[in-house]
Amino acid sequence: MDASAIVLFQADLRLADNKALFFACKNSAPIIPVFIYSPEDEGAWAPGAASRWWLHHSLSSLKSSLAAAGANLVIRRGPFAESVNRILAESGARSVYCNQRFEPAARRLESEVEASLAKLGVDFHRYNSSLLFHPELVRTSDDQPYKVFTPYYNRVTRLKSEQPLPRNKRLNPASVSLDSLTVSDLDLLPRIAWDEGLMSVWTPGEAGAQKQLRKFLSEGLALYAAGRDRPDKELVSRMSPYLHFGEISAQTIWQEVVRISETTGGGESGSEKYLRELVWREFAYHLLYHFPDTAEQPLRQNFEHFPWRRDAGGLKAWQLGMTGYPIVDAGMRELWKTGWMHNRVRMIVASFLVKDLLIDWREGARWFWDTLVDADLANNTLGWQWTAGCGADAAPFFRVFNPVLQGEKFDPDGNYVRKWLPELAKLPATMIHKPWEMPADVLGRYGVTLGRDYPEPIVDHSFARQRALLALAEIKGDQPGKGRLKKV
Ligand SMILES: Cc1cc2nc3c(=O)[nH]c(=O)nc-3n(C[C@H](O)[C@H](O)[C@H](O)COP(=O)(O)OP(=O)(O)OC[C@H]3O[C@@H](n4cnc5c(N)ncnc54)[C@H](O)[C@@H]3O)c2cc1C
Repeated sequence: MDASAIVLFQADLRLADNKALFFACKNSAPIIPVFIYSPEDEGAWAPGAASRWWLHHSLSSLKSSLAAAGANLVIRRGPFAESVNRILAESGARSVYCNQRFEPAARRLESEVEASLAKLGVDFHRYNSSLLFHPELVRTSDDQPYKVFTPYYNRVTRLKSEQPLPRNKRLNPASVSLDSLTVSDLDLLPRIAWDEGLMSVWTPGEAGAQKQLRKFLSEGLALYAAGRDRPDKELVSRMSPYLHFGEISAQTIWQEVVRISETTGGGESGSEKYLRELVWREFAYHLLYHFPDTAEQPLRQNFEHFPWRRDAGGLKAWQLGMTGYPIVDAGMRELWKTGWMHNRVRMIVASFLVKDLLIDWREGARWFWDTLVDADLANNTLGWQWTAGCGADAAPFFRVFNPVLQGEKFDPDGNYVRKWLPELAKLPATMIHKPWEMPADVLGRYGVTLGRDYPEPIVDHSFARQRALLALAEIKGDQPGKGRLKKV
């Protein structure tokens, strides 16, 4: 048997700029690339349906890339730590390489693996290959984690980010032959074929990530600063699922954007704004790492007693895109169809759920978890807690988005609504975000009868806003703004 090295692929499904793979190869051990699918080990946050769809295709792509470079991907089912031990016993490998994950369940798992490898005397090499900066590296002057974005951003942009590592074109695979499941054996694809929309929009895998980045850099980046809030235009990068599954590294994107910014002169340009968004991702991981119970609990303790409403009908209408507010419904239908939603619209639909319907943000986070192809515990938690006003550096709860004004401002011609709500496609731009304000006979001339072709609003926004403010007043005396901020 070779003294080979196991390379554990997790949220780093790529060959380029992959530290674990790079250093395993550099140390010249023959390698055994392994992927272990272990949803049971992820606790409440096992991959949702859209993530499983993506994972199926991403693993197929990784397997082909590895095969082209001369190595076989060994696929196993969990439990994770047990599977690692079994592969070690079967292969005689003397070291394990992996890139760290930062979610609470993943950190627990990695500690478990670390302890069991130490007992066996097997070397364990771990790297940060998914974040620009390890969450432990960025601390305030009094050695605390950051809770506010701007000082975090100022600190991070003074640090030097690493250059991406080159891709190993040829791999040196271990000669041992190990049993492997096929990607299909993992049973990740839906039994009922609802994935047509996802299929038509996305190309999961490393090549898809590179292609999407090229497209954005040539067509979107220069206009990003002005256009990033416009869901009716294609000016954002759509890199989120590729980043989540690690099909491209944040370092690669960062350095490409910096290079372009240097050649175009920088300034308040698309590049600067875009890099700032990548830092929001870093901040989300920083928070989840230091405050690991925030995926389940509000960071601000007073929100633990917030009087959320139970409203199964309202939740269902929101999930189906049938609230009667066009911008909200367009977003929810885009999500259902494509597994993705524009950031501005995520904020609008999230605000509608937690403020207009007063439904607990965790219900929304769960739905997003199941339906987003980029479902990411750090970013999703930050997004929902920010909207609900209960997170670090969050939007204040009393600032309630008006879905009509948001629609008129960010989808001024109504084209985003037209795309996702064909039943309203003929309405003029002046009325498309508030069809209920049109007289029934005029609306009828555009082929729409409310309650038949499209719902009446399920709640009156002015009433809902007042109700939300009253609910907030109930917890006001309860240590407002005080955080739980429990450390790991
Ligand atoms: C309620 C809510 C839930 C969200 N859930 C997720 C989620 O599960 N997964 C996810 O990746 N993002 C989530 N976001 C953040 C953001 O909406 C998406 O990252 C973004 O829309 C992805 O599209 P993009 O790649 O075109 O973004 P771009 O605008 O092109 O930004 C580039 C990258 O920066 C990062 N980024 C951008 N905005 C944010 C942000 N607000 N917070 C953290 N990182 C950001 C992402 O990695 C993104 O891919 C959520 C936001 C909200 C308001």
